[in-house]
Amino acid sequence: LSKAVLAGEAAPESTRLLKTEAFEALALDWRPATRVSRIDCAAKRLQLVDGTNIAYDKLILCTGGRARTLNVPGADAAAVYTLRTIDDAMALAPVLEPGRSVVVVGGGWIGLEVAATARKKGADVVVVEAQSRLCERTVPSEISEHLLALHRSQGTRVILGANIAALGARTNGRSQVTLADGTTLECDAIVAGIGMMANDELARDAGLECDGGVVVDSRCRTSDPDILAAGDVAVTPNPWAGRRLRLESWQNAQEQGIAAARAALGLEVDYRPLPWFWSDQYGMNLQIYGVPAASHRVVLRGTPGADSFVLFYLDGNVVNAALGPNAARDLRFARRLIEQRKPVDPHALEAALEQALAALEFLE
Ligand code: ADP
Repeated sequence: LSKAVLAGEAAPESTRLLKTEAFEALALDWRPATRVSRIDCAAKRLQLVDGTNIAYDKLILCTGGRARTLNVPGADAAAVYTLRTIDDAMALAPVLEPGRSVVVVGGGWIGLEVAATARKKGADVVVVEAQSRLCERTVPSEISEHLLALHRSQGTRVILGANIAALGARTNGRSQVTLADGTTLECDAIVAGIGMMANDELARDAGLECDGGVVVDSRCRTSDPDILAAGDVAVTPNPWAGRRLRLESWQNAQEQGIAAARAALGLEVDYRPLPWFWSDQYGMNLQIYGVPAASHRVVLRGTPGADSFVLFYLDGNVVNAALGPNAARDLRFARRLIEQRKPVDPHALEAALEQALAALEFLE
């Protein structure tokens, strides 16, 4: 998900997690290009596609996810891209050029970040979103409005509440998108940013509990205690949300990976992270701590539509979630309020977050 690689501003190698020497120093039994076909839980053994087996004491599934693909007539004929892997980014990058036109299907995070990168590189961009507002799954309407205004101000055409009826290829080599209302859009590339699917087939075939991903507890254990899972493939009960969540962020991939490794080693683990997500689009940095819910009372600091404002989501007088554009400093304070779960004065939140926090520290 490196926008810098997509924009051609960073080399693909810059995304590597470890330098070659550091990787070699780990002395792993590293087996690239090796596919597992089956987990035999009873025998604690993996069967590989080539027929050989690998025995395990503990198994950690980090199979991640894949981009959902557009399942409409003509999708094979058109130039459809997704953005998930470094190869995806390398394939899409050359298309984002001045004079080229891109239709982005999906006005979620991937879609909007691709749209911003494409505009910055001078391409014409149309975003087509099925819901009536942007990022409907993850943010309240104030933020959707903010994102909409931002993208429109940068010359992107955003079509909301639109369904794709068909895709296709034109004789001039370009692609065509037909919407359900008959609108047609011609473009050089179609980018589908319509969410991800967990690669949980191995787990499902092995009979492990799955629910849109592999279900794990706060010790990263699946329904088989010798099998753990972490990252995009894992679904974890989240106390901040009051339900199971799959956290699709690199922060979770990293920290849950560490937690799973510790748990596999028999160390104490209680992984119940406060969800934290951010997105950079044009100059704007949006951050979200926690999971806003309709049942929360909303306290606003600042003015929606301004460059920077913060929305707090309270359960009684306890802050449960906070988010906003260009408010990194306020949100760092908010994070502490959320994690400490101490009651706050909502009026103080509106006015001065630092004061609310100072009062809280004074009470301690
Ligand atoms: P991602 O990480 O891929 O951005 P999100 O769930 O944040 O995932 O965003 C995906 C967006 O794509 C959502 O806003 C969803 O409503 C939209 N979407 C899903 N399917 C379609 C479709 N067929 N046409 C248009 N928009 C779609």
